[in-house]
Amino acid sequence: MAIRTIRLKDDEILRKKSRDVKEINERILTLLDDMAETMYNSEGVGLAAPQVGILKKVVTIDIGEGLLELINPVIIEEKGEKVIEEACLSVPGESGKVLRPEYCKVEALNRNGEKIVIEAKDLLAVAVSHETDHLKGVLYIDKLIDEE
Ligand code: ZN
Repeated sequence: MAIRTIRLKDDEILRKKSRDVKEINERILTLLDDMAETMYNSEGVGLAAPQVGILKKVVTIDIGEGLLELINPVIIEEKGEKVIEEACLSVPGESGKVLRPEYCKVEALNRNGEKIVIEAKDLLAVAVSHETDHLKGVLYIDKLIDEE
């Protein structure tokens, strides 16, 4: 495992769309391992592959309930809306308020290529929404809301 360099907000790779993983091979497994290590090393709760310079639909999340590895995640349902104070490893030292779903259901593959469905609530729903945005080239700073 290795810690990879986290790309910062002005890096144009963060603005590109990620591609589906076609085959879960050694490179993808190494990417997953490295992303988890990089995320934990930075004390983040989530990381998306574009943040380490790889335009593939791969996400790691750990909100303190164990590691989740999502390959080709797709949000298939969303409910509710909540204002969240958010931060991002690619935007160090900053935070801001955005709207996120209170609940979302996400379909993905795990590292064994098995389909998994996760019903995410609260912080996990926020993390899933934030990380899947990265796969579309969207950062939370694009969604900041003004609160008077
Ligand atoms: Zn982020």
